[in-house]
Amino acid sequence: MKKFISGCLLIVLFSMPAFTQEGKIVFSNDDVVFRQIDQHTWVGTGHEMWNESLYLIEGTDRSILIDAGTNIKDLDKIVSSITPKPVTLIATHVHPDHTGSSVNSFPEIHINPGDTELIPEFMDNYKGVVKYLKDREIIDLGNRQLEVVFTPGHTKGSTTFMDKNAGYGFSGDSFGTALLLLTTDFSSFIASCERVCSLMEGNHIRYLYTGHHDGNNMETLNKIKDMLALSKNVLSGKIKGGFNPDNMFGLHLAVEGNGYRIIYNESAVK
Ligand SMILES: [Zn+2]
Repeated sequence: MKKFISGCLLIVLFSMPAFTQEGKIVFSNDDVVFRQIDQHTWVGTGHEMWNESLYLIEGTDRSILIDAGTNIKDLDKIVSSITPKPVTLIATHVHPDHTGSSVNSFPEIHINPGDTELIPEFMDNYKGVVKYLKDREIIDLGNRQLEVVFTPGHTKGSTTFMDKNAGYGFSGDSFGTALLLLTTDFSSFIASCERVCSLMEGNHIRYLYTGHHDGNNMETLNKIKDMLALSKNVLSGKIKGGFNPDNMFGLHLAVEGNGYRIIYNESAVK
């Protein structure tokens, strides 16, 4: 956990200046601020681990909450004050700034089975039922659908959710915003970049909201293409990583792309 927090601090340093969020505030307390993205979509911002982001997505039948932040008291009541529809919690991945103690506001959480191995370390206090998402399943909210796209790389179970009609998606930490902590390997990440690029191009998806949204740091097709090209060069040996002195998660190597870094260790180059 200590290493994780130092990693988040590094994200802060690497991404300044931050926080230029816009949108009408619909809820605010010491733990979280919710702002409206569009008529039926809101972003919640926590501040325990650098504006960790939650997204509330409303259909005509029900709503989905993507991620629960770190430690937001009564999160179920907060989201119910914004949407009148029943809310189901799903997670982009199992890390303490996305599935922190706030998950206990909800009787069940839906995760990618790839992150089951992280539950003992990062979600061991969860009292509810863990259910599993399926790759490419469609979550129907009533007149609004989210497609589940598994995007391993940051963790084995990292997941992106696409709202094709709205023209945007939600990628959590899958592409790392300005700093990707690659805890798996480049082959998995390259495959994730390729499938997301093809889905974005094929469905006119303009951007992906990140797990640490600051108002204008959405992932774009160009950025993910850039990450894909860099990752292929690292995997082929054309580019070698430099030493990453922070060494969080044991990720002691780093490569830099256009406005971002990827940190990893030797075992990722396979
Ligand atoms: Zn994470």
